Amino acid sequence: MVAKILDGKEIAKDYRAKLKEEVERLKKQNIVPKLSVILVGNDGASQSYVNSKKKAAEKIGMISEIVHMDESSTEEEVLNELERLNHDDSVSGILVQVPLPDQVSEAKILEAIDPSKDVDGFNPINIGRLYTGERTFIPCTPLGIMEILKHADIDLKGKNVAVIGRSHIVGQPVSKLLTDQDATVTLLHSKSQNTEEVLKNSDVIVSAVGRIHLVTKDLVKPGAVVIDVGNTPGEDGKLKGDVDFQSVKEIAGAITPVPGGVGPLTITMVLNNTLLAEKWKNGIE
Ligand code: NAP
Repeated sequence: MVAKILDGKEIAKDYRAKLKEEVERLKKQNIVPKLSVILVGNDGASQSYVNSKKKAAEKIGMISEIVHMDESSTEEEVLNELERLNHDDSVSGILVQVPLPDQVSEAKILEAIDPSKDVDGFNPINIGRLYTGERTFIPCTPLGIMEILKHADIDLKGKNVAVIGRSHIVGQPVSKLLTDQDATVTLLHSKSQNTEEVLKNSDVIVSAVGRIHLVTKDLVKPGAVVIDVGNTPGEDGKLKGDVDFQSVKEIAGAITPVPGGVGPLTITMVLNNTLLAEKWKNGIE
């Protein structure tokens, strides 16, 4: 069996085209979504991420700005900037690019984002809403993963799903979303003792660890769906996933590549959530 390749770029392209149409419809009512991104410091990868988000937002007709702050900015200065954006009526969604410099507490910053503008869904209030089933901004990578599974018409009901990695930004929220779709989810992490057995019995594997070639062909059940969230720079400088793509694609039923799998959907869901923020602000469901 050769796996179906779940092409994140194509799925993202279709999704963004629909978002663009919605933005155009809103503009006719003089409603223009705006994404503001706070970037502190000069980390190369972070700069490239925020530039991609800005470009993607502008491409679908949104306004986007990068608030670039100095590496030596104090926590108070970042909080002041955030407060300004929280109160700026023209701003629909706010992202704070992480990692932040050591002197700035990530937890304090995420807590200070107005929950109604928190398009990453990392404010504790929004995390709580996710778990109580209230309307909220669902974190972008988990939401993107669910969109890939939906697009590929994967029925999750009653299926065994293994999620590897238990971070707050990927593993835990995606486990919740998969459970909501009636999957039976096993959340694996570095201390798990039965990883091999769980993986071999899984109909779907979502790997969000950051270790190249963690998931090999011998761990994958024939026909399983494999979603690779990993994004680790390899020795050749290129980004690699957690999954040994070349061998696993011979046995899996469907698989996402890296790059070009989950990544494009993550950015797309930032745009999705920014649009939602602006719609909700205007009482549009
Ligand atoms: P993280 O916070 O570092 O969490 C990694 C998780 O992997 C931890 O829960 C850790 O377990 C677990 N782990 C480590 N070694 C393991 C092993 N041998 N077996 C099983 N579990 C193991 O990472 P993250 O922020 O979730 O990101 C994970 C990966 O996804 C990274 O490569 C990141 O770059 C990528 N990513 C990609 C996107 C995208 O849009 N494509 C978005 C976000 C993240 P413990 O909890 O026990 O330490």
